[in-house]
Amino acid sequence: MSQVNCPTCGANNNSNVANCEYCGVEVGKPAQLTPQEYVEALRKCVAKARQNLLSDAAEAEVVKAFPIPTDLNVLTEFFFYCHSNVQPGLMGIADNSTAWRAKARAAYGRLRLASLNNPQLLSYLEEFKETYSEAAMKASAKAWAYIIGGVVLVIAIIDILIILSERK
Ligand SMILES: [Zn+2]
Repeated sequence: MSQVNCPTCGANNNSNVANCEYCGVEVGKPAQLTPQEYVEALRKCVAKARQNLLSDAAEAEVVKAFPIPTDLNVLTEFFFYCHSNVQPGLMGIADNSTAWRAKARAAYGRLRLASLNNPQLLSYLEEFKETYSEAAMKASAKAWAYIIGGVVLVIAIIDILIILSERK
């Protein structure tokens, strides 16, 4: 059976399906989706992945692979949707939140480029400058390293205490 790539989410579908099995958008013609339709396609893909595999990692894979739109209005909506899925604090270092953050950052970068001649949009985006700056992205990656480092240290200390207590 021949396969066809979905023009919206890129997933592989049998060529006999009318709508993508993943995002639900028509595969036959590459339609110009409205911002709402585009975000809905992403939401469906994520829901489908979670339903099948029940994991943050599955969600992360879908988010990573989902194409960033080029149309400015769609891109704006896409950015805000990704941004709304980034979780703060400790929850924010889970696989899925990390993927949303990376995607939001990529969309943010494109939005800034696209808004160079649009002072209104540019000033609006200033609000997110801090969140998606190089330094902030590094800090969130570092949080992982500290937590893993902390766990390793605790295990090492417990081991040492066990060894010391056995010596007596
Ligand atoms: Zn699709």
